[in-house]
Amino acid sequence: MTDPIVALDRAHIWHPFTQESTAPDPVPIESADGAVLRTRDGREILDLISSWWVNLHGHAHPHMAAAIAEQTTKLEQVIFAGFTHEPAARLAGALADRLPGDLSRVFFSDDGSTAVEVALKLATQYWANRGRTRNRFLCFEGGYHGDTMGAMSVGASSGFFDVFRSLMFPVDALPFPATWEGDEAVEDKESRALAALDAYLDRHGAETAALIMEPLVQGAGGMRMCRSAFVRALAERLRAADVLLIFDEVMTGFGRTGALFAGERAGVAPDIVCLSKGLTSGYLPMSVTVCTPNVYEAFLDADFDKAFTHGHSFTANPLACAAALASLELLEQERSLERVRAMEVLHRQRFAELAEHPRAHRWRVTGSIAALDVQAADGGYGSAVGPWLKRFYLERGLLIRPLGNVVYLMPPYCVDDEQLEKGYRGIAESLEKMPV
Ligand code: PLP
Repeated sequence: MTDPIVALDRAHIWHPFTQESTAPDPVPIESADGAVLRTRDGREILDLISSWWVNLHGHAHPHMAAAIAEQTTKLEQVIFAGFTHEPAARLAGALADRLPGDLSRVFFSDDGSTAVEVALKLATQYWANRGRTRNRFLCFEGGYHGDTMGAMSVGASSGFFDVFRSLMFPVDALPFPATWEGDEAVEDKESRALAALDAYLDRHGAETAALIMEPLVQGAGGMRMCRSAFVRALAERLRAADVLLIFDEVMTGFGRTGALFAGERAGVAPDIVCLSKGLTSGYLPMSVTVCTPNVYEAFLDADFDKAFTHGHSFTANPLACAAALASLELLEQERSLERVRAMEVLHRQRFAELAEHPRAHRWRVTGSIAALDVQAADGGYGSAVGPWLKRFYLERGLLIRPLGNVVYLMPPYCVDDEQLEKGYRGIAESLEKMPV
């Protein structure tokens, strides 16, 4: 008999990134604890993708729950134009203290996509306020930045949004020098990408507002990784050409790459950074776009027209700010970065072993993120092997959700080695049993 909750869901709910006509019934989750999800019929599923890359410290963490509960008794929401509150002010200060460079001015919004919209609008108006028209944006092929109009425009090459192309603004995409262990062509790819950037900046630098990128790891594009040296070389060129650099750290932020921010691991401080997902450890939706004083000061004027006329009803929601502060405390108390670095070592050993299988290629690891490509007749997000693998893992109690033929792990930091080994074993078994 169908679970009544699933029946009600199927009658009324429209799920994200889902072909509702062919998708299997959604799995009803009753509760969760640490890295384990529990279904309504009592099964356990190990969450090895941090519930769409948001959860850092595990589900139902008592410190997170207590911080949010306490805040609900004080202030759940207040208009943020003309008013402020302690959780927002403390959070903004804590982020400014921890972010690389002089990223110190925090604008709040609701999710990763809106953090990116804010960054694109800030970059455009930064130049307009300085009396310059710069309407071009640069991005990387395969980059993904969210599903709202601006975010889609800078992520058009991800291939998810072709039907909306007529609504998007044109954005130029550079080749992304994706690399993996043992990649002998990496320097060539980086040189070609930098040469393309040089040629572009020569022709269009003076019209370009900003370049946006996911530093070190392109997430939805297939966990494609690049080297720190490339990001540094790119940043130097942009600085010389006076083009703003936006890091979309919606996925890579808060320790995912083994440093608190990927920019820190790469040794680059951008002009603007977008953060969400791990910001609240996935407990409540919120994002921030943080910029340097240089960007902020371009908006200061006696004239209201120079102000940034953007805002959301739930800007700096106090409950979400309390969750973010609690998550920052846990990052330190639970020594999460040390845990991620240890996870990186284990990922490296196990993915090197997994990649000895003839159906596994191009293994790569950065911090808590480990990925490999499985051999498939058709590559990319729509690869037929993706749904097969997803089902295979779920039947074995593993939440691993391949991006087409890319199998990856991105566990919450509370995961223990035994749980990780379960994940590696599941991948090994799938390589043996997958249809060729
Ligand atoms: N930017 C990056 C790098 C992402 O990975 C995502 C989501 O996966 C987004 C932006 C969009 O975030 P959201 O889904 O919260 O709108």
